[in-house]
Amino acid sequence: MFAKRVRSLMIHILMAAAILAACAPAATEAPPAATEPPQVATEAPAATEAPAATEAPATEAPAEITDTELNVLCTPQEQWCQGMKQEFEAKYGITVNYVRMSAGEALARIQAEKDNPQFDIWWGGPIDSFVAAKGEGLLEAYDSPNYANLTDPVKMKDVDNQWVGIYIGTLGFATNTDWLAEHPDAEAPTSWDDLLKPEFKGQVMVAHPSSSGTSYTALATVLQIRGEEAGWEYLKQYAGQMAQYTKSGAAPAKFVGQGEAAVAIVFSHDIVNEIENNKMPLVLTFPEEGTGYEIGGMALLKGAKHPQAARLWFDWALTPEAQALGPTYAAYQAPTVKGVELSHPELLEVNLIDYDFIWAGEHKKEFVDKFTNEIAPAENLKE
Ligand code: PLP
Repeated sequence: MFAKRVRSLMIHILMAAAILAACAPAATEAPPAATEPPQVATEAPAATEAPAATEAPATEAPAEITDTELNVLCTPQEQWCQGMKQEFEAKYGITVNYVRMSAGEALARIQAEKDNPQFDIWWGGPIDSFVAAKGEGLLEAYDSPNYANLTDPVKMKDVDNQWVGIYIGTLGFATNTDWLAEHPDAEAPTSWDDLLKPEFKGQVMVAHPSSSGTSYTALATVLQIRGEEAGWEYLKQYAGQMAQYTKSGAAPAKFVGQGEAAVAIVFSHDIVNEIENNKMPLVLTFPEEGTGYEIGGMALLKGAKHPQAARLWFDWALTPEAQALGPTYAAYQAPTVKGVELSHPELLEVNLIDYDFIWAGEHKKEFVDKFTNEIAPAENLKE
């Protein structure tokens, strides 16, 4: 019942981008290699009372900002986390400590730290987990002046201002082209049913939905396309095709590129990264009956110890300037603000389901527990 095209979303984004791209800053040179390990936030200075930010951020941090550091819970890939840390530090002179965690791990961490939050802001990862966090009272509302930059403020922002979308990405399949050459009767999958073909038995790789937002998006997509009863039946069969589950959502594209299995279910922008930057022998396809997509989220964490710096990052992440940095750091998701050229518009030009983020977020715990207890335990996840 949910499988209908959301052309309006795509057209909205493409048109806004096309009209306003001329204003966008050009993406800079090839990405610098991530050289430093992530810095783990170990202590936080005493919280200070923060005046609410009332204006869009200027080039330099406003004078009243007294926070000197910021602890970011970062869910996109390491290279983008590291790049955004460096960009923010260079622009505002505030030290950024970040830890990269998959979406499910990030949610578990902020639940565990509820009474003494170590992170100030959560940046990236499918919005379903932010919806779940909102339901548990873990997020802080914020009325950013830069919501005005959003292409689709209704879809890309929580009604209570507790989360906002910072990118959009679609789910795809990555198939190893060497494997295809060795199996001339097989073809790269173009439907969810294709994954169940006998030739793919033990040849499919996806992350586990308990740790990965990517994998949870795939699970919730199947349930939305097929309905819950048929969807769970499909997921049992799909589990029978798996080579191994990974911990992080993007990892299967790398492992399949290395020949450890034939097909990966991964966000398409991560597949593009493996093909274009890591020269992996992969072909990208999409399920023709419809694929799911993510709104990558951002939220302030309740009880944050550096709320001023967190609001500054929040406002900055909603500028065209910050969102145009993605491709510099091998992040090819579509932006959510006006005035940014899409690096790969074709990734949105596919049959998208009308993914229900609120439904998926509100059922996240129930569905992950069911998958873990009845279909595949979260054990021996490949890293
Ligand atoms: N990496 C990228 C580039 C993503 O877009 C996303 C999803 O937001 C993730 C990682 C999420 O990672 P995981 O599936 O490990 O939670």
